[in-house]
Amino acid sequence: MKIKEIVSALERFAPLPLQDGFDNAGLQIGLTEAEATGALLCLDVTEAIIDEAITLGYNLVISHHPLIFKGYKSITGKDYVERCILKAIKNDIVIYSAHTNLDNASGGVNFKIAEKIGLKNIRVLSCKEDSLLKLVTFVPFEQANTVRQALFDAGCGNIGNYDSCSYNLEGEGTFRAGEDTHPFCGTIGELHKEKEIRIETILPAFRKNIAIQALIAAHPYEEPAYDLYPLKNIWEQAGAGIIGKLETPEDELDFLKRIKKIFEVGCVKHNSLKNKPVKKVALCGGAGAFLLPDAIRSNADVFITGEIRYHDYFGHENEILMAEIGHYESEQYTKEIFNALLKEAFPDLAIQYSKINTNPIKYL
Ligand SMILES: [Zn+2]
Repeated sequence: MKIKEIVSALERFAPLPLQDGFDNAGLQIGLTEAEATGALLCLDVTEAIIDEAITLGYNLVISHHPLIFKGYKSITGKDYVERCILKAIKNDIVIYSAHTNLDNASGGVNFKIAEKIGLKNIRVLSCKEDSLLKLVTFVPFEQANTVRQALFDAGCGNIGNYDSCSYNLEGEGTFRAGEDTHPFCGTIGELHKEKEIRIETILPAFRKNIAIQALIAAHPYEEPAYDLYPLKNIWEQAGAGIIGKLETPEDELDFLKRIKKIFEVGCVKHNSLKNKPVKKVALCGGAGAFLLPDAIRSNADVFITGEIRYHDYFGHENEILMAEIGHYESEQYTKEIFNALLKEAFPDLAIQYSKINTNPIKYL
């Protein structure tokens, strides 16, 4: 299969518009028309990782952290990023990164961390806002099923674990076709009344153009009428962090020790123990300390993330147990998401986890 097909599969799962404003997720380097010879999965891209791909004979590196974050006026190999860029291009290696789009996607990075800890009843900790639209259109009775299905196929009608969600109301539409028109029904110059269904459905704002194209293609009218409304609803399936519950409450020290083991953490930093069992757990992989207020508001017993600054520890002694487990450690299982996705979509693709631990932080 071509690399571009693999990229499409990754972006169906973690659409690029879900990424945060500062990010640079997506294709980093390379031409995706090439046939994939294998995919190396990793957290960070370093020169050693590219060497590993070269040794394996793989021409695709899929990472969580983007290699490139800024614009370049020259690439001369003066730092490791530039050397990686040069090495990848020289060796025809494509580099693709799914970063905050994968953090914010349903089933993404934090879902994987929650799975490792064994959390149940999980939901997004800080849901995306101003990201949904309501689409309303008016379709003749006979064509309503076709148009509705076309909208669902274009990504409309998903709410939680339900798909094909719509509301349908019978009514009557009117129109008078003018000169040079080709009306599907009625006569040019005469007022026409048509029994129609008003179809309402919901969609992520970033799918607007795809949905409208599908609507126009499936709708029988020359000039289909449709309305788009921005919604103030939060998007419960997309956003940052996760909150969930342990099946049985755990002693907080036992819980921290278990986390240390699961994520192979050299040193777990935490604030003072609360002397009560842990049941409700909020978490965010990587640099997730910005979600601490959300974790406290959600009444979590503990908040786990990869990095917390010294001053951020202050003032929460009686509010929540905070635990810092390392950026690399918290996100290292992200490659399992890539693996599961690609194995299912491309059973014949050679896939390997990198054997290199790219964590630049060591513990004594
Ligand atoms: Zn990260």
